[in-house]
This record gives sequence, structure tokens and C-alpha cells, in this order.
Amino acid sequence: MHWAEVLAEQLLKDKKKHILATGITPSGPIHIGNMREILTTDAVYRCVIEKGGDAKLVYIADDYDHLRKVYPYLPKTYEKYVGMPISEIPCPCGKHKSYADHYLISFLNALKEIGVNPKLYRASEMYKNGDYNEAIKTALDNTDKIKDIIQRISKRQLPKNWIPFNIKCEKCNKLTTAKPILYNYPIVEYTCDCGYDGEIDIRNGGAGKLPWRVDWPARWKMLDVTFEPFGKDLGTVGGARDTGEAIVEEIYKYPAPKYTVYEFILLKGKGAMHSSKGTALSAEEMLHMTPPEVLRFLIMNNQPNKHIVFDSELGLLNLIDEYDKLERVYFGKEEPIKGMKDLKKTYELSQPDDVKEELPHQLPYRHLVTLVQIDTDWKNIKKILQRTNQIPKDPDKENEKHLSQRADHAKYWLENFAPDMVKFEIKKKLPKINLNKEQLSFLTNLKGELSTIQWEPEDIHNTIYQISEKQEIPIKEAFKTIYQIILGQEKGPRAGYFLSNLDQDFVSKRLEEAIK
Ligand SMILES: [Zn+2]
Ligand SMILES: [Zn+2]
Repeated sequence: MHWAEVLAEQLLKDKKKHILATGITPSGPIHIGNMREILTTDAVYRCVIEKGGDAKLVYIADDYDHLRKVYPYLPKTYEKYVGMPISEIPCPCGKHKSYADHYLISFLNALKEIGVNPKLYRASEMYKNGDYNEAIKTALDNTDKIKDIIQRISKRQLPKNWIPFNIKCEKCNKLTTAKPILYNYPIVEYTCDCGYDGEIDIRNGGAGKLPWRVDWPARWKMLDVTFEPFGKDLGTVGGARDTGEAIVEEIYKYPAPKYTVYEFILLKGKGAMHSSKGTALSAEEMLHMTPPEVLRFLIMNNQPNKHIVFDSELGLLNLIDEYDKLERVYFGKEEPIKGMKDLKKTYELSQPDDVKEELPHQLPYRHLVTLVQIDTDWKNIKKILQRTNQIPKDPDKENEKHLSQRADHAKYWLENFAPDMVKFEIKKKLPKINLNKEQLSFLTNLKGELSTIQWEPEDIHNTIYQISEKQEIPIKEAFKTIYQIILGQEKGPRAGYFLSNLDQDFVSKRLEEAIK
């Protein structure tokens, strides 16, 4: 059984109704670990529904969390905002409502593309609406117990006057600098490092925030969460998950949600990703270069407790080929892949939308990588594909959309991640090169032969081989000559396929110029 089905069945053993949660603090580019978290949750959510359960998927953006430091990707001027809730800090680019939105909005758009549609909760709104008021009162009423739980489990000493509530100073708006003096429900008196002394009424929404170790369990109860996965960094002994479990059960009298611990996604050659260092590949970038069904496949095809190595260079092409093969197997066009388990469920869970009724039109991805370098405009690419019979003359809309979307991913990958060896550019004019006699006579023969054959990959390929044999020019030299006059470089994509995608007249003219 697929891992998501196993988790779904465990949940359904308890009861039918489930709230599956996942969350994030949008304090920087959202990293691909978050992508794994939300796709893992989405997979379990889909399986619960499929097995007859009643499930809801929720996504909590903790935008009332404070800015921890000036991250490397921020201007120095952000020093003054450290400690303030990220929903109340201006956005770095000036186009968003807040700092939090700057990172959150584009990630939410990315979620739509991968077919994840959760109900969104913003912590800033929940606090301001007073949704947390009861949880805050319960926490403050149990200050000693909570303090004891955290100290006992995390082995961390908390300050003498610690309370499970971060007061938001009314003067400097920071959540980190105000110290409590006295709590007498509903008032907390405080003194702030900024010099301000004041008092807040905890019944006023947004007067402060529960510390993370208390916020998490409070939210489980508030939203009736029954399942929430977490990364292995939170699952360490004495970590936030351990204290959260004790707090939710002992203080909030609510059973801790079920979970799975997911491993990191490592970037090949770069190691683990940490968004706080500002060096990570962001979730959106990963989605820009990877077709959504393939990104889902990467997560669905790996047990959550196995780390994933993502290769943003040539490995990505292999991953896409692997997905395409799975698709052919799913639709019965190819033999099942040896050693691969749960083929059917893996394919189904990899779909952003419903599974198609028949095999979608496939085009080898490497071909697409070649085509988008011949022409970037989809309309022209489509013409080439139609002329060369790679797609039907009248492709259905959905198939065409799928292919054009893949073309966009290929373009993004080429611009940002592809190794030089797969890149090329069709030169508008004959490049300045010196061809030797042997090369010139090869081109002359080629020009003559090409005008007599079908403009198809195999015919072109065979012709090049025949001339090379007859003329005794090494085949490598023959290919090199072709690339030199068209691309101005010595290597290029497979010549037969490549030339067949170019306009025949263009090739013919270029040969003529080169021979002159
Ligand atoms: Zn912005
Ligand atoms: Zn202050």
C-alpha cells in the first residue's frame, strides 16, 4: 500500500472526520521542505477522502510571528523591524501589503499550480479577531505548569518572570522586548526595553502572541487538528513537537494530532536547504523549473522518512523521463517498472487535477528542451511540432496546454539551472568560422543529398552517416561541422532530430552560404 494510504487508514481507525494541517512562517523565500510538507499532507488528505472519510486541509501562515534577524537577503535598514510581527513590517519590494505577504502570496499561487487547495488561516487575523483569547487565558492561568513542562522536556531554563505570552509593546510594536511585571486577569503590566511602561488587556486581540512552543498546541485544539506532519528538525527529543504534545494534552485537554516525520530535500551538491541562510532553492523556483505533476511525483514516490536528493541540472531531465514512463505504464502502454511499488497510487497522487481518461500526449522532454531553444514562442513551437508530426494537426486544448506549460518549465530551467552542455543558440547569420576542405566537401554533399530526401529525423540522420562513410570523414567531424555553421559551437542536440525541427529552407540557405 502507498504510504499516504497507510497514514490515511491509521487516521480512519480513530474516526471519520479529520482536519489535516500544515503551516509555515513566511519570513523568507519559502523553501522546498515546505513543499514536501504540504504535498505530504495533501496526499494523506486525498486518501482519507477516497477511503470514505470526511477531511479538511488547512494551511496556517504564521504571519504574526516576529522577524528574528536581518536575513542575508534583506537590506540593512530592516534592523529596526527585528522583533516586530512580519505582517506589520513593510514588504521589501514595495508591491505587497506586508513583509509576510511578500513571501506568502507567490507561494500560495504556486500551491494552486500543484493542485493543493487548503483553507488558509493567517495567524495575524486569528490573533486580532480574538480567536486565540481563550487559549491565551488558559496558558496564563497555567503559567507554572507550562513552564515546568517546557523546562522538563526541553531541558531549557526559562527566565524567572517568564509567562507563556509575548507582549506586544504598544510603543515600539515589538514582541520580543517587553517584560511582564504583573499578571492579573485580564491585565498584564509590562516594561519594555524601549523605555515604555504600560499595561495590556489580553482580551484585546493582537495584544501579544503565544510563544511558538505554546502557539502550536493551542492551534491544534482551536482548529481540531488531527494530523500534522513535521520536518525532522522539529521532531528532535525535547523539541517543539515533544513539548507541544505535553502542553496540548495536559493544559488544553486535547489529544495530540497524528503525524509523520518527513526528511529533508537535499539539493545535489549543496546539501540540506535552510531558508534562513538565504542560499536555498525556493519552493517557487523548484516549481518554475519542474512540471507540477513531476514535482508531486518526486514527493509521492518517496517515503516521507527518506531524504530526497534533488538534482536541478541533468537529473531533472531524468526525473521527468521517469515520470513520463510511469504515465505510459499507468495507461497500459508499457510494461510495469521493475521494483517500483504502488505504481497506480503514486501516479494518481502525482496529478494536480483529476486523472485523465487516456494517456496525455507525450513528447520526450529532451526534445522540448531543444525546441524551446529553436524558438521561444509557443505558437511557433506548435507549428514545428505539427509540421514534423510530433503532435496531431488539431491537438485538443488540454493536451496543448500541458505541452506549452512544460515548454515554459524547460525555458526557465535553461535560463537558470541547465548546464552549458545542453544550451545552444541558432545563429541568425553564418558564424565566422574557418572550415577545412574536408568539411566544405561534406557540406556540399550534404546540401545535394538533403534536397532529395524527406525532411524527417531518421532520413536526415541516415544521410549524414552515408556521406560520412562515403567521404571517409569521421562522423564526429561531420556533426561538428553542422553545429559550427548553425550554432557556432562544436556540440549540439542530436543532429537528425535537430535539423528536422528547423525550417528546411533555412538549413539549405545556411549550407549554401557556408560552402561559398
Ligand atoms: Zn513585495
Ligand atoms: Zn517597546
